[in-house]
Amino acid sequence: MTERSYFDWNATAPVRPEAHEAVAAAHALTGNPSSVHAEGRAARRLVEHAREDVAKLVGARPGDVIFTASGTEANALALTPSIETADEKRPRGKLLISAIEHPSVRSGGRFPREAIADIPVDTDGRIELAALSAALPRTQRPLVSIMLANNETGVIQPVAEAAAMVHAAGGLLHVDAVQAAGRFAIEIGALGADLLTLSAHKIGGVKGAGALIRAREDIHFPEPLIRGGGQERGLRAGTENVAGIAAFGAAAKAALRAPFEEAAHMLALRDVLEEGIRKIAPQAVIFGAAAERLPNTILFAVPGMKAETAIIAFDLEGIAVSSGAACSSGKVQPSHVLAGMGVSPGLTRGAIRLSLGFSTTKADVERFQNAWRKLAGGLCKGSDERSGIAA
Ligand code: PLP
Repeated sequence: MTERSYFDWNATAPVRPEAHEAVAAAHALTGNPSSVHAEGRAARRLVEHAREDVAKLVGARPGDVIFTASGTEANALALTPSIETADEKRPRGKLLISAIEHPSVRSGGRFPREAIADIPVDTDGRIELAALSAALPRTQRPLVSIMLANNETGVIQPVAEAAAMVHAAGGLLHVDAVQAAGRFAIEIGALGADLLTLSAHKIGGVKGAGALIRAREDIHFPEPLIRGGGQERGLRAGTENVAGIAAFGAAAKAALRAPFEEAAHMLALRDVLEEGIRKIAPQAVIFGAAAERLPNTILFAVPGMKAETAIIAFDLEGIAVSSGAACSSGKVQPSHVLAGMGVSPGLTRGAIRLSLGFSTTKADVERFQNAWRKLAGGLCKGSDERSGIAA
C-alpha cells in the first residue's frame, strides 16, 4: 500500500507518465513556436502535434482547437456575446446556464449579469429539459452553456437532447466537458455541441493548459480574449505554454487509448466504495445515485457529519478527499450544486466527495473503508445522542 490514498481526481489528476515525458522533451527545446528558425519550428511541431491529439480525443479537427491557460479561460472565451456564425452576425442577447455549472461558467464570461438566466436541475442533479425549452426565446439568439458531467456529483447531463432544442431555437451550445473527458468517449458532433471546453490537468496533463474546441470553422470570435502577439489565431495572445500543451497532447492520446478499461476499473472500485459507505452508515445519502453518473465520482453525506471535520479525519488517516462544496482558497463554501438539487443546508454541510482514477487501487479502497468505519462509528454514536438517528 502506498503511503497515502488520493481520492480527489476531480480536483486534479496525477500526471500521466506520458505527460511527464512530454514535459521533459519540451523543456529540452529552446525555441519559441512563433520563431521561424529551426528551434522555433521544433517547438511549433510539439504544439501542433498536441493540437492533433487533443482534437482526436473529442472527434474534432485540429484547426478548431484553441489552446488556453485553463478550462476556466476556455469557458471565459466561449461565453462571449459577440460570437458569430456564417448565418448569424448579431450579438447573442442571452446566456442560459444550468444551476450546477462550474463557477467559471456561473460567472457568465463576458455577458452582462442581467443577460444571464438559470436553468434549474431536478433532485437527481439533471438539468430540467422542459425548463430549458420554455426559456429558449428564439428572438434573443441565446448562447446556452451546459456541462457534460458535474464535478461534484458526477451526474451526466442530457446534452444531446438539449442541443437539439437549442439549435431549433436558433441558439448555440457550449459544453464544459472538463470532468467528462477521459472518463467516457466524447464526440463533439454526436453531442451537438458548438463549442466544448477541456482542461489538461483533469486528464493527466499538467496544470496551466486548457482548450476551447469549435465544432465548425464558421464559428468566429470577433473579440479576442487576450490581445497581443496574435497567437492561437489572434484569440489568446501570449507565447504558448509549450510544455503544458505537449503534456496535454500526451495525456489526451493516453486517455483516448484507454477510456473503456479505465472506466471499468474505476466503476468496479466505485461500486465497492459505495457499498461500503452504505453498509457502515446505512443513513448515508449518495447524491445523484438515481442518475447516470461518471464512473469515478461519489458525493455523499450522513446527517450530523461536518465536511471540514471529516476531511481532516481522513487526511490524518492518509486519505485525500474533498468536500462537495466548492472549495477555493481553502475556504469551504456551501455547494450551489446541492442547493440547486434541493438538498437541505444541514445535509449539504456534510457532503464529502470521493473521486478516483486509473491508478486507484483496491488497497486505497480498503484504507478508505477502514477510516470510514472509525469515523462513521463516532458519528453514528454522536447522531444517536443528538438527533435520534439509528446507527
Ligand atoms: N469546469 C469544470 C466542470 C471543472 O470541474 C473545472 C475545474 O475544477 C473547471 C471547469 C476549470 O478548469 P481549470 O482548473 O483548468 O481552470
